[in-house]
Amino acid sequence: MLITVVTLFPEMFPGPLTYSLLGKKLGTLWNLKIVNIRDFSDNIWHKVDDTPYGGGAGMVLKPNIVHDSLSYALSLYNGSNPTIVYMTPRGQVFNSNIAKKIVNNEGIIILCGRYEGIDQRVIDFWKTNHNLVEISIGDYVLFGGEIPAMVLIETCLRFIPGIMHNSESVMDESFAIDLLEYPQYTKPAIWCGNSVPSVLLSGNHLEIAKWRTEQSKQITKALRPDLWKKYLELHSDNGG
Ligand code: SAM
Repeated sequence: MLITVVTLFPEMFPGPLTYSLLGKKLGTLWNLKIVNIRDFSDNIWHKVDDTPYGGGAGMVLKPNIVHDSLSYALSLYNGSNPTIVYMTPRGQVFNSNIAKKIVNNEGIIILCGRYEGIDQRVIDFWKTNHNLVEISIGDYVLFGGEIPAMVLIETCLRFIPGIMHNSESVMDESFAIDLLEYPQYTKPAIWCGNSVPSVLLSGNHLEIAKWRTEQSKQITKALRPDLWKKYLELHSDNGG
C-alpha cells in the first residue's frame, strides 16, 4: 500500500507515523512518499501562493502548482487508481466507515492545504477527472492539512491486514459495531480497593462476551446518544 502525501511541509513526515506498529511495518506492509508542492513552483522565488481574487485575508495556493504536484504524485502509481483525498474543513467529517472506504490496495494520495486553502478550479478538476474526495477531521480549522493527513493515514492503516498484531482488535474496538468499546481492565485484580468485575475473572467466555456487549450498549447510550440512536436504527431487528 503506497501512501503519498502532497504537502508544503515534507519535513513533518513520517514524524509520528514511525512509532509503534505502524513504524515497524513502514517499508514492508505500507510505504510513504512525500511530494513537496514547492518543487513545482513556477517562479524563481519558489512562491506557491497568491492573493485571493475578490480580496480578503491570506493567500491561496495556485492551481497550476497544485495540479502539477498531484499529477506527479499520481504518476508514482504507474497507471493504477489510488484514492485521492483533499484534507479540508469543508469535507465529509471523517469516521471509521469513511476510513474503510478510503483504504484501497491501489494506494492513497493525500493533498494537504495551507493558508486560506487551494484554488477551487484545481479541486473541481480533480473531483471530476480523478474522483478526488474532500475529508475533514472535524468542525474546527487547523493551519494545515498535515496533521489531518496523519489522522487519516493512521486510521486507515489499522484496517490493513497484518498491521495489527491481532486482527480481532480492530473488530472489537469502538465504532466497529456502531457502539463504543466496553471498559478494559488489567492486573492487579484489586487496585485501591477496587476489584475488576468478577465476570472477567470467571473464565466463562460466553458470559464475558454478553457482559461486554451490555457494557458497550450502556456506555454508548450514556455518552453518545447520537451513536446509540443510529445503533438502534441499524439493529432494530434484534431489539438493540
Ligand atoms: N480558509 C479555509 C476555511 O475556512 O475552510 C481554512 C484553510 S486552513 C487554515 C488551511 C488548510 O488546513 C486547509 O486547506 C486544509 O488542508 C487544512 N485543514 C484545516 N482544518 C482542517 C480540518 N478540520 N480537516 C481537514 N483539513 C483541515
